[in-house]
Amino acid sequence: MNIKNLVKNYKLPHPVYVTQPTLPDLGEFKIYLEEVWESKWLTNSGKFHQVLENKLNSYLGSENCSLFCNGTMALLLALKALDLTEGEVITTPFTFPATLHVLSWNNLTPVFCDINEKTFNIDADQIEKHITEKTKAILPVHVFGYPCDVEKISELAEKHQLKVVYDAAHAFGVKLNNRPVTDWGDLSMLSFHATKHFNTLEGGALITKSPELKKKIDLLKNFGIADEENVVFPGINGKMNELQAAYGILQLEMVDNEVEKRKTITELYRENLKDVPGIGLSIDNPMVEHNYSSFPILVNEKEFGENRSTLYEELKKFNVFSRKYFYPLCSDYPCYSHLPSARKENLSIAKKVSESVLCLPLYGNLALEILDQISFIIKKIYNNRHG
Ligand SMILES: *Cc1c(COP(=O)(O)O)cnc(C)c1O
Repeated sequence: MNIKNLVKNYKLPHPVYVTQPTLPDLGEFKIYLEEVWESKWLTNSGKFHQVLENKLNSYLGSENCSLFCNGTMALLLALKALDLTEGEVITTPFTFPATLHVLSWNNLTPVFCDINEKTFNIDADQIEKHITEKTKAILPVHVFGYPCDVEKISELAEKHQLKVVYDAAHAFGVKLNNRPVTDWGDLSMLSFHATKHFNTLEGGALITKSPELKKKIDLLKNFGIADEENVVFPGINGKMNELQAAYGILQLEMVDNEVEKRKTITELYRENLKDVPGIGLSIDNPMVEHNYSSFPILVNEKEFGENRSTLYEELKKFNVFSRKYFYPLCSDYPCYSHLPSARKENLSIAKKVSESVLCLPLYGNLALEILDQISFIIKKIYNNRHG
């Protein structure tokens, strides 16, 4: 059968995107909105802001959560809060552009380190060779919510006196050996963007163990205003407003259920796809309490019969809109490709993963029949190539 006939028979009735937010009940949100309207307190650490910070601390097992208007601003200020104003920061090319851009905005030079083929995270065994006298920090990313090699990274940081800031944008609620993954490093950034499984429309947070650092962060995100007559340093506006926070409180009540549903979907995908030649699944580490933020597969062209990009295009014809996260690598953007560490030889695993990865639709409200059909379509495409 050619692909046209397959499409005719198996095209999904509606477009299915890689993610979709699960929204709180509008009636419940309206009650909170009425309270905001009544109080006329719209932002600047209002009631809902304080409630959400406290609730997140309990949920995440942290003590010093600081809310932000978005994750990128949080990460930008994490580096400022640690006085990282010049020098080199070792990071991964396999991430969202924001990870790199916050370095540029802080006048820091990114140094790309290759990734681990199994976890897609920075390869902790290759970090040390990139350390020079200019190195100030390590900025790893818990890609797709899989924890980095946090122990090894802490060891290196201690040995070489480096700061560690985690981009934990995907790692909301993830635990490693029963410990919140945000326990490691000087600071961790969480993103609450609409596409993340816990969202506040736009939003983010920094998590730290240090109450002093939290104080500094709270000043930084509010223009450095200590009190009515004292502005202590050049801060900026990074605050989360009351509507975002009120929405976040309702989201938090739903998040366990969302993760549970994503777990069911992930297990079914794994079962459906495990025997399809050329479709590689991510590792399933029993020491990790996962949040099922994404469902990445690796397409091996030789075995599957077509490459990742062709599969991506073909799935679109069936109304399945997967995403090539993360392609291209950040080291291939024109703003970073000139860096010595952006050389292909330095990043061979990252290049390989980036050219074969595909994230399939995954969200709590994805119907199991649809997910079965997506798996079935992938099998049909394989069979079609091996007719
Ligand atoms: C989403 C994301 C960000 C940016 O977060 P925003 O809240 O959208 O600013 C940063 N890093 C990674 C890895 C992300 O996925």
